Amino acid sequence: MDTADRAHVPVVVAIDGPSGSGKSTVSRAVAARLGLSFLDTGAMYRAMTWWMLANEVDVEDADAVATACGKPVIVSGTDADGPTITVDGQDVSGPIRGPEVTAKVSAVSAVPQVRVRLVELQRGCAAVALRGIVAEGRDMGTVVFPEATAKVFLTASEAARAERRAVELRAKGVDEATIAEMAADLVRRDAADSSRVTAPLAQAADAVLVDTSELTLDQVIDTIAELVEERAGRLTAA
Ligand code: C5P
Repeated sequence: MDTADRAHVPVVVAIDGPSGSGKSTVSRAVAARLGLSFLDTGAMYRAMTWWMLANEVDVEDADAVATACGKPVIVSGTDADGPTITVDGQDVSGPIRGPEVTAKVSAVSAVPQVRVRLVELQRGCAAVALRGIVAEGRDMGTVVFPEATAKVFLTASEAARAERRAVELRAKGVDEATIAEMAADLVRRDAADSSRVTAPLAQAADAVLVDTSELTLDQVIDTIAELVEERAGRLTAA
Protein backbone atom coordinates (compact mmCIF):
# COMPACT_ATOMS: atom_id res chain seq x y z
CA MET A 1 0.00 0.00 0.00
CA ASP A 2 1.54 3.38 -0.93
CA THR A 3 1.31 6.63 1.01
CA ALA A 4 -1.73 7.93 -0.89
CA ASP A 5 -3.73 4.76 -0.16
CA ARG A 6 -2.77 4.80 3.49
CA ALA A 7 -4.01 8.35 3.86
CA HIS A 8 -7.52 7.17 2.97
CA VAL A 9 -7.70 4.20 5.29
CA PRO A 10 -10.46 5.12 7.79
CA VAL A 11 -9.55 5.00 11.45
CA VAL A 12 -10.89 1.97 13.30
CA VAL A 13 -10.42 1.81 17.04
CA ALA A 14 -11.17 -1.64 18.48
CA ILE A 15 -11.94 -1.70 22.20
CA ASP A 16 -12.57 -4.99 23.96
CA GLY A 17 -12.97 -6.03 27.56
CA PRO A 18 -15.22 -7.72 30.09
CA SER A 19 -18.53 -6.35 31.41
CA GLY A 20 -18.12 -3.38 33.69
CA SER A 21 -14.62 -2.49 32.52
CA GLY A 22 -16.02 0.89 31.48
CA LYS A 23 -15.88 0.09 27.75
CA SER A 24 -19.08 1.80 26.65
CA THR A 25 -18.55 5.06 28.51
CA VAL A 26 -14.89 5.25 27.52
CA SER A 27 -15.43 4.26 23.88
CA ARG A 28 -18.22 6.76 23.39
CA ALA A 29 -16.19 9.55 24.97
CA VAL A 30 -13.13 8.75 22.84
CA ALA A 31 -15.29 8.74 19.71
CA ALA A 32 -16.86 12.10 20.63
CA ARG A 33 -13.47 13.65 21.37
CA LEU A 34 -11.92 12.48 18.08
CA GLY A 35 -15.00 13.13 15.93
CA LEU A 36 -15.45 9.45 15.11
CA SER A 37 -18.56 7.27 14.94
CA PHE A 38 -19.31 4.89 17.82
CA LEU A 39 -20.54 1.32 17.71
CA ASP A 40 -21.73 -0.63 20.76
CA THR A 41 -21.67 -4.21 19.46
CA GLY A 42 -22.98 -5.58 22.77
CA ALA A 43 -26.19 -3.66 22.04
CA MET A 44 -26.52 -5.62 18.78
CA TYR A 45 -26.21 -8.99 20.59
CA ARG A 46 -28.68 -7.71 23.15
CA ALA A 47 -31.10 -6.59 20.39
CA MET A 48 -30.88 -10.05 18.78
CA THR A 49 -31.59 -11.63 22.18
CA TRP A 50 -34.53 -9.26 22.80
CA TRP A 51 -36.06 -10.28 19.44
CA MET A 52 -35.60 -14.00 20.21
CA LEU A 53 -37.36 -13.61 23.57
CA ALA A 54 -40.14 -11.46 22.07
CA ASN A 55 -40.73 -14.12 19.41
CA GLU A 56 -40.60 -17.03 21.86
CA VAL A 57 -37.54 -18.65 20.34
CA ASP A 58 -35.97 -21.04 22.88
CA VAL A 59 -32.63 -19.27 23.39
CA GLU A 60 -31.05 -22.37 24.96
CA ASP A 61 -31.66 -24.23 21.67
CA ALA A 62 -28.72 -23.23 19.46
CA ASP A 63 -30.32 -24.71 16.32
CA ALA A 64 -33.51 -22.72 16.86
CA VAL A 65 -31.49 -19.53 17.40
CA ALA A 66 -29.37 -20.23 14.31
CA THR A 67 -32.46 -20.76 12.16
CA ALA A 68 -34.21 -17.60 13.37
CA CYS A 69 -31.27 -15.18 13.53
CA GLY A 70 -31.58 -13.97 9.94
CA LYS A 71 -35.05 -12.56 10.53
CA PRO A 72 -34.78 -9.40 12.68
CA VAL A 73 -33.67 -6.17 11.02
CA ILE A 74 -31.19 -4.66 13.48
CA VAL A 75 -30.01 -1.10 12.85
CA SER A 76 -27.37 0.70 14.93
CA GLY A 77 -27.20 4.51 14.85
CA THR A 78 -23.51 5.33 15.33
CA ASP A 79 -23.57 9.00 16.36
CA ALA A 80 -21.36 9.19 19.47
CA ASP A 81 -23.59 11.96 20.85
CA GLY A 82 -26.69 9.77 20.70
CA PRO A 83 -26.27 6.16 19.63
CA THR A 84 -29.49 4.28 18.82
CA ILE A 85 -30.55 0.70 18.26
CA THR A 86 -33.73 -0.52 16.59
CA VAL A 87 -35.17 -3.93 15.76
CA ASP A 88 -37.67 -4.01 12.90
CA GLY A 89 -37.99 -0.25 13.29
CA GLN A 90 -38.70 -0.35 17.04
CA ASP A 91 -36.43 1.51 19.48
CA VAL A 92 -35.19 -1.17 21.90
CA SER A 93 -32.49 0.81 23.70
CA GLY A 94 -34.38 0.52 27.03
CA PRO A 95 -35.55 -3.12 26.99
CA ILE A 96 -32.18 -4.54 25.88
CA ARG A 97 -30.66 -3.42 29.22
CA GLY A 98 -33.22 -5.30 31.32
CA PRO A 99 -32.48 -8.43 33.40
CA GLU A 100 -34.26 -10.85 31.00
CA VAL A 101 -32.05 -9.94 28.05
CA THR A 102 -28.93 -9.66 30.25
CA ALA A 103 -29.49 -13.19 31.57
CA LYS A 104 -29.80 -14.72 28.08
CA VAL A 105 -27.45 -12.72 25.88
CA SER A 106 -24.39 -14.94 26.42
CA ALA A 107 -26.29 -18.00 25.17
CA VAL A 108 -27.44 -16.20 22.02
CA SER A 109 -24.06 -14.63 21.32
CA ALA A 110 -22.33 -18.02 21.50
CA VAL A 111 -24.22 -19.23 18.41
CA PRO A 112 -21.86 -18.99 15.40
CA GLN A 113 -24.61 -18.02 12.90
CA VAL A 114 -25.59 -15.08 15.11
CA ARG A 115 -21.99 -13.91 15.11
CA VAL A 116 -21.62 -14.22 11.34
CA ARG A 117 -24.73 -12.10 10.84
CA LEU A 118 -23.81 -9.41 13.36
CA VAL A 119 -20.13 -9.22 12.35
CA GLU A 120 -21.28 -8.43 8.82
CA LEU A 121 -23.48 -5.60 10.13
CA GLN A 122 -20.61 -4.33 12.29
CA ARG A 123 -18.20 -4.19 9.35
CA GLY A 124 -20.92 -2.45 7.35
CA CYS A 125 -21.18 0.26 10.01
CA ALA A 126 -17.41 0.79 9.88
CA ALA A 127 -17.42 0.93 6.09
CA VAL A 128 -19.84 3.88 6.01
CA ALA A 129 -18.30 5.81 8.91
CA LEU A 130 -16.76 8.75 7.09
CA ARG A 131 -14.03 9.71 9.56
CA GLY A 132 -13.75 6.31 11.17
CA ILE A 133 -15.26 4.46 14.10
CA VAL A 134 -14.67 3.37 17.67
CA ALA A 135 -16.13 -0.12 18.00
CA GLU A 136 -16.45 -1.81 21.37
CA GLY A 137 -17.23 -5.39 22.33
CA ARG A 138 -15.49 -8.70 23.00
CA ASP A 139 -13.93 -9.63 19.65
CA MET A 140 -13.31 -6.30 17.92
CA GLY A 141 -9.51 -6.64 17.88
CA THR A 142 -9.35 -10.40 17.43
CA VAL A 143 -12.04 -11.14 14.82
CA VAL A 144 -14.07 -8.22 13.49
CA PHE A 145 -11.33 -5.64 12.83
CA PRO A 146 -7.98 -7.47 12.77
CA GLU A 147 -6.45 -4.53 10.86
CA ALA A 148 -7.70 -1.85 13.28
CA THR A 149 -5.67 1.34 13.58
CA ALA A 150 -5.51 0.93 17.36
CA LYS A 151 -6.60 -1.91 19.63
CA VAL A 152 -7.25 -1.57 23.33
CA PHE A 153 -8.09 -4.24 25.88
CA LEU A 154 -9.76 -2.59 28.86
CA THR A 155 -9.79 -4.38 32.13
CA ALA A 156 -10.49 -3.70 35.80
CA SER A 157 -10.45 -5.84 38.93
CA GLU A 158 -13.64 -7.79 39.60
CA ALA A 159 -14.21 -5.67 42.72
CA ALA A 160 -13.86 -2.40 40.78
CA ARG A 161 -16.21 -3.63 38.05
CA ALA A 162 -18.86 -4.81 40.51
CA GLU A 163 -18.62 -1.55 42.46
CA ARG A 164 -19.04 0.59 39.31
CA ARG A 165 -22.08 -1.38 38.24
CA ALA A 166 -23.53 -1.07 41.78
CA VAL A 167 -23.09 2.72 41.78
CA GLU A 168 -24.87 2.94 38.38
CA LEU A 169 -27.73 0.74 39.54
CA ARG A 170 -28.14 2.51 42.90
CA ALA A 171 -28.43 5.82 41.05
CA LYS A 172 -31.33 4.27 39.11
CA GLY A 173 -33.02 3.29 42.39
CA VAL A 174 -32.38 -0.46 42.04
CA ASP A 175 -32.56 -2.35 45.38
CA GLU A 176 -29.53 -4.04 46.99
CA ALA A 177 -30.78 -7.61 46.46
CA THR A 178 -31.08 -7.01 42.70
CA ILE A 179 -27.65 -5.36 42.67
CA ALA A 180 -26.15 -8.49 44.30
CA GLU A 181 -27.94 -10.69 41.74
CA MET A 182 -26.60 -8.59 38.88
CA ALA A 183 -23.06 -8.79 40.29
CA ALA A 184 -23.31 -12.60 40.26
CA ASP A 185 -24.70 -12.44 36.74
CA LEU A 186 -21.75 -10.31 35.62
CA VAL A 187 -19.27 -12.94 36.84
CA ARG A 188 -21.27 -15.71 35.16
CA ARG A 189 -21.51 -13.76 31.88
CA ASP A 190 -17.77 -13.04 31.77
CA ALA A 191 -16.99 -16.71 32.33
CA ALA A 192 -19.38 -17.70 29.53
CA ASP A 193 -18.06 -15.02 27.14
CA SER A 194 -14.43 -15.99 27.83
CA SER A 195 -14.88 -19.74 27.48
CA ARG A 196 -17.13 -20.02 24.41
CA VAL A 197 -15.71 -21.68 21.31
CA THR A 198 -16.48 -18.96 18.74
CA ALA A 199 -14.81 -15.56 19.18
CA PRO A 200 -14.33 -15.66 22.96
CA LEU A 201 -13.46 -12.53 24.91
CA ALA A 202 -9.69 -12.28 24.47
CA GLN A 203 -6.95 -9.69 24.21
CA ALA A 204 -5.52 -9.44 20.68
CA ALA A 205 -1.76 -9.97 20.57
CA ASP A 206 -1.30 -6.38 19.34
CA ALA A 207 -3.79 -4.74 21.73
CA VAL A 208 -2.67 -2.29 24.41
CA LEU A 209 -3.81 -3.39 27.87
CA VAL A 210 -5.34 -0.61 29.97
CA ASP A 211 -6.26 -1.51 33.56
CA THR A 212 -8.88 1.03 34.63
CA SER A 213 -9.17 -0.07 38.30
CA GLU A 214 -7.14 2.84 39.63
CA LEU A 215 -7.67 5.39 36.83
CA THR A 216 -10.27 8.13 36.53
CA LEU A 217 -12.52 8.17 33.50
CA ASP A 218 -10.64 11.19 32.10
CA GLN A 219 -7.29 9.43 32.48
CA VAL A 220 -8.56 6.42 30.53
CA ILE A 221 -10.02 8.62 27.78
CA ASP A 222 -6.76 10.60 27.51
CA THR A 223 -4.67 7.42 27.30
CA ILE A 224 -6.74 5.95 24.48
CA ALA A 225 -7.16 9.21 22.55
CA GLU A 226 -3.38 9.70 22.63
CA LEU A 227 -2.80 6.16 21.42
CA VAL A 228 -5.21 6.62 18.51
CA GLU A 229 -3.66 9.94 17.50
CA GLU A 230 -0.21 8.41 17.63
CA ARG A 231 -1.28 5.47 15.44
CA ALA A 232 -3.50 7.45 13.06
CA GLY A 233 -0.70 9.99 12.68
CA ARG A 234 1.73 7.24 11.86
CA LEU A 235 -0.67 5.74 9.35
CA THR A 236 -1.17 8.96 7.41
CA ALA A 237 2.47 10.00 7.69
CA ALA A 238 3.94 6.63 6.60
O1 C5P B 1 -21.19 -5.16 26.19
P1 C5P B 1 -22.42 -5.78 26.77
O2 C5P B 1 -22.24 -6.22 28.20
O3 C5P B 1 -23.66 -5.01 26.55
O4 C5P B 1 -22.58 -7.13 25.91
C1 C5P B 1 -23.62 -8.01 26.15
C2 C5P B 1 -23.22 -9.41 25.73
O5 C5P B 1 -23.09 -9.47 24.30
C3 C5P B 1 -21.91 -9.95 26.26
O6 C5P B 1 -22.05 -10.52 27.56
C4 C5P B 1 -21.52 -10.99 25.22
O7 C5P B 1 -22.18 -12.21 25.46
C5 C5P B 1 -22.10 -10.40 23.94
N1 C5P B 1 -21.12 -9.75 23.08
C6 C5P B 1 -20.35 -10.54 22.26
N2 C5P B 1 -19.50 -9.98 21.37
C7 C5P B 1 -19.37 -8.65 21.29
C8 C5P B 1 -20.12 -7.80 22.14
C9 C5P B 1 -20.97 -8.40 23.05
O8 C5P B 1 -20.45 -11.77 22.31
N3 C5P B 1 -18.54 -8.13 20.38
